[in-house]
Amino acid sequence: MEYKNFFDIAIIGAGPSGCSAALTLRNSSCSVGLFEKSEFPRNKICGDGLCDRSVNTLKAINPAYLEEFLSTQKSMCIRNTELIYKNRSYSIDFKNFGYTCKRQEFDNFLFSLVQRDGKSVTVFQNCGIRTVERHDDVLVLNAENGDVFGAKMVLVCTGATSGIARKLTGSQYDRKSMGVAVRAYYSGVKDLKPDTLELHYKKEFFPGYLWIFPLADGSANVGFGCNVEEPALQTDIRTVFESWIATDERLSERFSDAKRLSPIQGGLVPYSVDTYNCYGDNFCVCGDAASLIDPISGGGIGSAMVSGYFAAQVAESCVLKNDCSKSATAAYSQMLRNRVEREMHSRYLIQKCIKKLPWTMDLLAFVGRRAGFLHKIKTWYFNR
Ligand SMILES: Cc1cc2nc3c(=O)[nH]c(=O)nc-3n(C[C@H](O)[C@H](O)[C@H](O)COP(=O)(O)OP(=O)(O)OC[C@H]3O[C@@H](n4cnc5c(N)ncnc54)[C@H](O)[C@@H]3O)c2cc1C
Repeated sequence: MEYKNFFDIAIIGAGPSGCSAALTLRNSSCSVGLFEKSEFPRNKICGDGLCDRSVNTLKAINPAYLEEFLSTQKSMCIRNTELIYKNRSYSIDFKNFGYTCKRQEFDNFLFSLVQRDGKSVTVFQNCGIRTVERHDDVLVLNAENGDVFGAKMVLVCTGATSGIARKLTGSQYDRKSMGVAVRAYYSGVKDLKPDTLELHYKKEFFPGYLWIFPLADGSANVGFGCNVEEPALQTDIRTVFESWIATDERLSERFSDAKRLSPIQGGLVPYSVDTYNCYGDNFCVCGDAASLIDPISGGGIGSAMVSGYFAAQVAESCVLKNDCSKSATAAYSQMLRNRVEREMHSRYLIQKCIKKLPWTMDLLAFVGRRAGFLHKIKTWYFNR
């Protein structure tokens, strides 16, 4: 077979998982190809909340990258979260949640680091990979433009709607573990607290919520997400989102002079359940393509980054040891299990429990009025 290029490691997708993998391999002795179907800076629909795991992974890849992010990017340090349920507000203060930063800017920042520092990385933009096929010990990447590439190891970092991941792992699209979310940018939202994330809950949509995240330029990222199969989601999700703001007494007042700065756009949220299928002969699957989103918060950037960081280390070791078999790539699954999956599993159980027994929401809210309990939630949930 004739290849345009042959790489030790091919990374498909340059979102947070793909760029974290590429940055981890920036000085590797392995040759690395990073394939991205769009051109940066590209739009990315997101709540723009970067939790501590995202920030800590960036620091683990290179402490100087975190400093550079903080000194060059427009980000907002978050110290507080307000949970609003039945018109009561429960405030959780914490020191190290993370930041808000527009995804277009954050993703472009990561991508620029790869372009600048990725000595071993060849970057292809506007290069969507249509299919990945196996030929003996090699994976063949067929690009949409007709080019053909070969690789010993492939990291699939293609996001929430990854046909490539499903084909390689043999897993099916599962609506039960799929969320959907929409967001838009607004200016002029009243009473926006610059260091506080707001999460508004209604029992029928739990674990879904409406969020208001403040951004460094004074605007807000406002959105709503819930399970795709949520029975309460009887109309289009955009309608639910807009009517929540319009009919809620407090929110409608706060948005009375607000201006929507962008269309309301949405995307899928494949959250983590209890089965994982993220590795095999010659490949690892990372981030949303491996369904690593937190089933309660809907946050996935941190898990995406840490999964890219782990997968890159395992891929490099597989190539150097000349063993890219499933038993060798299983090390990636083990690393994920220890760092992410156990935690996600407990969240998934909580999600299921509250869905089955909705009164537990009220119980939690009742107990939550006691500061000590909130403090425990805070340390367990946020400061990890
Ligand atoms: C409305 C909404 C709000 C959200 N809010 C938050 C939040 O506030 N905080 C948080 O942590 N998470 C949030 N998430 C989840 C978060 O966006 C994802 O978990 C995160 O983007 C996953 O990163 P990734 O690298 O796995 O995938 P992506 O970020 O989706 O990156 C995938 C990349 O692969 C490229 N690609 C896809 N297919 C191909 C192909 N065939 N060939 C080449 N390139 C390809 C895409 O163009 C893209 O650049 C939100 C999600 C949604 C939908």
